[in-house]
Amino acid sequence: MHTLHFDNAFLGELPGDPSDAPGPREVAGACHSRVLPTPVAAPRLLAHSAEMAAALGFGAEELASDAFAQVFGGNALLPGMQPWAANYGGHQFGVWAGQLGDGRAISLGEAITPSGERWELQLKGAGPTPYSRGADGRAVLRSSIREFLCSEAMHHLGIPTTRALCLVGTGEAVVRDMLYDGHPRAEPGAIVCRVAPSFIRFGSFELPASRGDTALLRQLADFTIRRDFPQLAGQGETLYGDWFGNVCARTARLLAGWMRVGFVHGVMNTDNLSILGLTLDYGPYGWIDDYDPDWTPNTTDAHRRRYRYGQQPNVAWWNLSRLAAALAPLFGDTAPLQAGLDRYAAVYAEADRANVAAKLGLAACRDEDVALMQSLQALLHEAEVDMTLWFRGLADFDPQNPVLESLHEAFYDEAKRRAHEAAFGDWLARYAARLADDSLPVAERRVRMRFANPRYVLRNYLAQQAIERAEQGDCAGVHELLDVLRHPYDEQAGREVFARKRPDWARHKPGCSMLSCSS
Ligand code: AMP
Ligand code: MG
Ligand code: MG
Repeated sequence: MHTLHFDNAFLGELPGDPSDAPGPREVAGACHSRVLPTPVAAPRLLAHSAEMAAALGFGAEELASDAFAQVFGGNALLPGMQPWAANYGGHQFGVWAGQLGDGRAISLGEAITPSGERWELQLKGAGPTPYSRGADGRAVLRSSIREFLCSEAMHHLGIPTTRALCLVGTGEAVVRDMLYDGHPRAEPGAIVCRVAPSFIRFGSFELPASRGDTALLRQLADFTIRRDFPQLAGQGETLYGDWFGNVCARTARLLAGWMRVGFVHGVMNTDNLSILGLTLDYGPYGWIDDYDPDWTPNTTDAHRRRYRYGQQPNVAWWNLSRLAAALAPLFGDTAPLQAGLDRYAAVYAEADRANVAAKLGLAACRDEDVALMQSLQALLHEAEVDMTLWFRGLADFDPQNPVLESLHEAFYDEAKRRAHEAAFGDWLARYAARLADDSLPVAERRVRMRFANPRYVLRNYLAQQAIERAEQGDCAGVHELLDVLRHPYDEQAGREVFARKRPDWARHKPGCSMLSCSS
């Protein structure tokens, strides 16, 4: 295979686990433990991202080789790879959970491309680590397909995310607590190679802070700023303050991205929030079909709904406040931390207004446009209207003829549609009046709306269909879906089936509506 250059800075510049004892344990005073992937029986490449493969220089022949499947199935290493698992903690569902760490993710190394990009390659599902806490370190095919597809879909939507290079089937079975006819079922196992400039999380800082290890906290902060925020100058507390403010701004833009397209992360624990503001850890996530701010795909959260769609921007703020508390020992005066949190609120508010303008096709967002959007959202919720279809269809709305007809297909319930017909008529009239008072020419408005309102998103039922086929040994559905999602804002002739609203049969089917954390 071609030579990738590795510079494993996270490993080389931060303290490692003083022990090499096997098995789960507490790891104090260290950011990582060296651990090798556990080999699998029969690794086979099931899918790959053409863009990520190209970025790393893997050609078609290499991708097709057995050597590639061996490396990305965890059976072999390329020169320069020095696998490790990272140590971190986190707040789970609002409660401090102590040490978590990479229980089933193993980083292979930080590849530096000829153009100077840094990509950490990480196998998810590659076997136990010191952080596995008694679990098996493996991942099932269904959750691996979901992570693989959604990371690439998110990237193509223009929303910051970790990436996925490839999906490898292990040829081994994995047993999860999903019951089928009352019995646990053995499922096919798989490994995703995730790729990101950094996998450092809020929880990476919370762990040393929770242990009163300010020296390690400072070392990790200095390292992160040096490696992942090279644009930040200055020093001391000014630098730390600028850095935290930057993390807050990135997180705000991330959340605005999710809210724009109807993505619900599902498990916004602080160990799942990236210090780079990337979408991280695709577990029981979901996409909004009928617009519902209270919806969460995560069955584990179905009662409290902490991580419901409409709550996400607030949860991100709370998570940042946990990060601020962790970083406080680096500051004599914590005013910059408060300023960072305020910056989150300001950047989010501004990005939210940009979303309103872009989704409605306005030159700029006025105060009354926020109210216009809110009344639309209330209607979409009450009348059970598909978010993606509605906003996409709205680009074709003709203010000269403000009728609902062209938007009929976005409704899930005909009776509800009729019951809300008058209210929608009123709203469309308001919208038509607003458009008449806007400076954007029609053609430009439509282009603007089509770039803000995707035609294709990874609806839960579409992922589930591709998964069920793949579990029968046919990955064509995964490949096709990946290809559709590479151009989410384009009209793709012959692929209308991927743009349809959730069919009735999928409404309450497991995997198509709600998901468990079991993966
Ligand atoms: P998550 O909720 O997916 O972010 O996972 C929380 C913690 O559980 C992380 O430390 C994971 O590495 C760990 N974890 C989840 N699934 C497994 C597994 N199958 N084996 C070992 N660790 C796991
Ligand atoms: Mg996680
Ligand atoms: Mg997870």
